[in-house]
Amino acid sequence: MSPATGTSRYDHDRASLDTVLAGVAERTGTALPAYRVDQLWQGLYRDLVAPEDLTTLPKGLRAEVGAALPAALTEDTRSVGDSGQTVKWLFRLADGALVETVLMHYAERSTVCVSTQAGCAMACGFCATGQMGFDRHLTTGEIVEQVVRAQVEAGDRRVSNVVFMGMGEPLANYDRTWSAVERLHGDLGLSARHLTVSTVGIVPGIRRLAAESLPVNLAVSLHAADDDLRDELVPINRRYPLDVLAEACAEHVATTGRRLSFEWALIHDVNDRPEDAARLADYARPLGAHVNLIPLNPTPGWPTRGSSPERVRAFADEVNARGGNATVRRTRGTDIDAACGQLRADRVGGGDGPTPVAAPRGRPPVG
Ligand code: SAH
Repeated sequence: MSPATGTSRYDHDRASLDTVLAGVAERTGTALPAYRVDQLWQGLYRDLVAPEDLTTLPKGLRAEVGAALPAALTEDTRSVGDSGQTVKWLFRLADGALVETVLMHYAERSTVCVSTQAGCAMACGFCATGQMGFDRHLTTGEIVEQVVRAQVEAGDRRVSNVVFMGMGEPLANYDRTWSAVERLHGDLGLSARHLTVSTVGIVPGIRRLAAESLPVNLAVSLHAADDDLRDELVPINRRYPLDVLAEACAEHVATTGRRLSFEWALIHDVNDRPEDAARLADYARPLGAHVNLIPLNPTPGWPTRGSSPERVRAFADEVNARGGNATVRRTRGTDIDAACGQLRADRVGGGDGPTPVAAPRGRPPVG
């Protein structure tokens, strides 16, 4: 498995910032008082400024500290959609890998959708990231820095929610994703109940999540409630079929007390029939799961289309009539290819870094 190769100033917590400052002190032959680490931490996590611009640090020291703590993300492209309420970035990482981040403003909250990997190995055929294959894991700092960049953009509107629903499979990059959760909670001050990890259903990862001390929300990309169809749509199902997935979900609900949600992208005549709704209701009901329905967003490598608004409505009604709890999700960013499943960081023309390969993939490399 490819290592995470990047570095970000947000890979550091207070303790390791202390080590960084000790290194700077040694190189420059300056004695640095202990309160400098607090000023640096405050600058990075409260004021969200680069060390170079940190006026609390002595001028002669800023460039040196800045060089020791580089930013990981360079803005390659920024697109604004939904009349300014949605912003999508394509960020270039130090090694040329590309990832996308989306900021969405709503009346009552602002949410950032972050990537956890460059590309994805899960090979869900309908997902644009799945179509491009896996490039590498992101580091903790590369994940956290996406939230920081979005908060800087949001200005006075506080980013209250983070969803791990961008490029990549968070639970296939468990340790770094979890450190990012801890950093968002402990350093950036986000509430755990406003953090949501979304997964294709990697059962050991869900069980680990259930055992963590911070209870975050769990979203599972279900899309089918029978194994034959789910094997096709979400290939990891061949490894972790629906019955073991349900057990892991139940464990997460029991230990965290958080509500579980299922994502279901409605695909015309594939998973939007009344019998699909019935199976979904039967699967979701005992788990008390909330079902988020969205019509499938079009992607380049998948020929089927999303369900019509009428079919979406009828499907939701059918699930609810059978005791399920389904709502239709407002889609965001369709005008800038920032909607669910559309994040795909290859760019046509320009750019000097390597572009992730767009190789068709068969079964995902699991295990
Ligand atoms: N790997 C994680 C997180 C990234 S995907 C996961 O699968 O949950 C975020 C969500 O977008 C998932 O629910 C995914 O199934 C959904 N998605 C992917 N492609 C889509 C598409 N073309 N239309 C609608 N939703 C899609």
